[in-house]
Amino acid sequence: MERIILARCGELMLKGLNRSFFEKKLVKNINNAIRHLGDATVTKKQGRVYIEPLNDNFKFDQALKAVSKVFGIVSISPVAKVNCDFDTISEKAVEMVKDIVNRHGYKTFKVETRRADKSFPMKSPEVSGKLGAVILENIPSLSVDVNSPSFTFFVEIREWAYIFTQIVPANGGLPVGTNGKATLLLSGGIDSPVAGWMMAKRGVELEAVHFYSFPYTSERSKEKVIDLARILSEYSGPIKLHIVPFTDIQTEINEKCPQNELTIIMRRIMMEIAERISQNNNSLALITGESMGQVASQTIQALSVTNAAVSMPVFRPLIGMDKDDVVKIARKIETFETSILPYEDCCTVFVAKHPKTRPELMHIERSEKKLDVETMIINSINDTEVITLK
Ligand code: ATP
Ligand code: MG
Repeated sequence: MERIILARCGELMLKGLNRSFFEKKLVKNINNAIRHLGDATVTKKQGRVYIEPLNDNFKFDQALKAVSKVFGIVSISPVAKVNCDFDTISEKAVEMVKDIVNRHGYKTFKVETRRADKSFPMKSPEVSGKLGAVILENIPSLSVDVNSPSFTFFVEIREWAYIFTQIVPANGGLPVGTNGKATLLLSGGIDSPVAGWMMAKRGVELEAVHFYSFPYTSERSKEKVIDLARILSEYSGPIKLHIVPFTDIQTEINEKCPQNELTIIMRRIMMEIAERISQNNNSLALITGESMGQVASQTIQALSVTNAAVSMPVFRPLIGMDKDDVVKIARKIETFETSILPYEDCCTVFVAKHPKTRPELMHIERSEKKLDVETMIINSINDTEVITLK
């Protein structure tokens, strides 16, 4: 008997001629996600991926969690792989059922069989019926309930028999790396990690940029952002995080530009720097955590003026979402607890009491003439620290 992980693929089944490209990426991403957990083989077959440990050192439970985070998988099951004969299947089934009944106190069950290998001598209903009888005989506390059982015992008959009791939903989406790369503007807040996660879910590889205003923001606020990037990388694969010093730029804007334009000018320069970093790293678009109307810099007018600073596409996957919905995702993907740690963000360093909610591009550009934006950008990119999370 072997304990293996069975992962089911979703949408990538539909991709016609590109299918093998998607499947190869998926297998590669799964391999990357479990590499540090021991030796295992990863093989794809008919819309499924089988992850089979090569020895007992493989960290099975951690691997289950890691695989469930890989995009392109709709569900996973821990599975026993046994020889394809009825006696072996029964023996293993009784052992597994005893174990889960002991742990969960289940009272009812049913058996569901799929026979992909039609050369197996029994038909599916016959396997279910006979196996159900064997289980009942050995575990008298159980009874059969086909409508709403406490658990279902699944049997799949292929070249091996795969037996399991759990189907755990995963995140779906597309394998990361099948849709190019984009640069996430990653703050320490709740929104931007969720925005990055949503784009990675659609197959986009992530590069990340964080603007850091030391000493106004502490070393710990930087650690917090590194932690967020690390959590994201468990879903997206490796992320190169660029930590851009932003203090001098903020100080200069604060000295030279009107108070009510500080935020919007700062945001435009952030976008310009992120675009420049993207161009140097084969990244094709920007991603932000902005949501319509959430704050003064997220009105249509303000977003348009921010956008006008760059020519790359800017993706804002949260644009139509309520904060509650964003928080739900943040909790699910486990960034929330880190995001709410109380370290200040650079955006809160110089804030105007009454920021412009309807800025006009012409006025903002006029104010920016007082700054040597090009030199500011070059200097801060030169002093950027790069960390790779994987
Ligand atoms: P978040 O929760 O992601 O911080 P927010 O609702 O607080 O978003 P803002 O602070 O106005 O909104 O920031 C809007 C977006 O700008 C963020 O979602 C993020 O993409 C980007 N951003 C803000 N501050 C930074 C920063 N210090 N470094 C990198 N990107 C940032
Ligand atoms: Mg913020």
